Amino acid sequence: MSNKKLSKSKVSSKIKTVYSDDIDQLWIEHENIRNQFNDLYEGLAHKNLENPDYTFLDLKIEIAEKIIENCHLCERRCNINRYLSKGECGVKESRIASQLIHTGEERVLVPSHTIFFSGCNFQCVFCQNFDISQNPLTGVQTSPENLAEIIDKNRKHGSRNVNFVGGDPTPNLPFILKTMNLVNENIPVVWNSNFYMSLETMKLLDGFVDLYLTDFKYGNDKCAKRLSKINNYWEVAKRNHKMAEKNGDLIIRHLVLPGHLECCTKPLLEWISQNLKKDTVINIMGQYRPIYLAENYEELGRYVYLAEISEAVKYAKSLGLKNVIH
Ligand code: SF4
Repeated sequence: MSNKKLSKSKVSSKIKTVYSDDIDQLWIEHENIRNQFNDLYEGLAHKNLENPDYTFLDLKIEIAEKIIENCHLCERRCNINRYLSKGECGVKESRIASQLIHTGEERVLVPSHTIFFSGCNFQCVFCQNFDISQNPLTGVQTSPENLAEIIDKNRKHGSRNVNFVGGDPTPNLPFILKTMNLVNENIPVVWNSNFYMSLETMKLLDGFVDLYLTDFKYGNDKCAKRLSKINNYWEVAKRNHKMAEKNGDLIIRHLVLPGHLECCTKPLLEWISQNLKKDTVINIMGQYRPIYLAENYEELGRYVYLAEISEAVKYAKSLGLKNVIH
């Protein structure tokens, strides 16, 4: 953020690779480089690097564009051709609902140039951004060139990072990769997501994302299915958090839902304490509002009690988690 070393996307745009039109070959090449990326990154992040013809970032774009021919960017795995139709997220072309310099994110991240994409692969009945997430046709279409110019301009004005969110950024991965390939400035990428990315997407994000800002919602599959219409949440969220910790910086957010301390908050905090580093930053959020369809679900039709937030924070600390913010 302070420009002392290159961002991961910038280093990926300087690593030479070879082109192939065969997807299996592209993945082999991608995984070869990915397996050495952490070592390469430390060696290259302080250097003034040349611009090769075809790069690791170009390779990521090529693969992402092939993935949406039978879309499996997220674990819904709709397997439809997104060039022709829409999947569960409703996203065909990327649309931007708004973009702004956010000063309300975690202190370490602000001012954060935050870009909100329309549409989402989740259908949370309490979505705090439902006007954007459940309306993939809202907002405007723009080109990667135009967005890259805006990102450059904001960086020059002092943004500390570019923060891709929604809805969810996942359905927009090819557009985001193409945009960052055109950005001239050196700026860290924040991936601000519900964390339901497919394994393939997680691999593409490795070597691209500097900081994962996760929205860890539920501690079991039943609540995820009932409230977000999502299958197999718990396994996917756990896998992706483990990968994120290994591949970048990590801040976990957890929005405390009314009446969900025992089924969601406590189990996910326990899992974090047993499987991730004890100094992982965890933001326990208390700003839940009973909006959108929340009133149709008995326990969600009220604000969260202060006592519930305090209990969540106390429980996290009792598990030995050292960086709990709220
Ligand atoms: S991003 Fe996910 S929900 Fe959207 S079409 Fe692809 S697999 Fe389906």
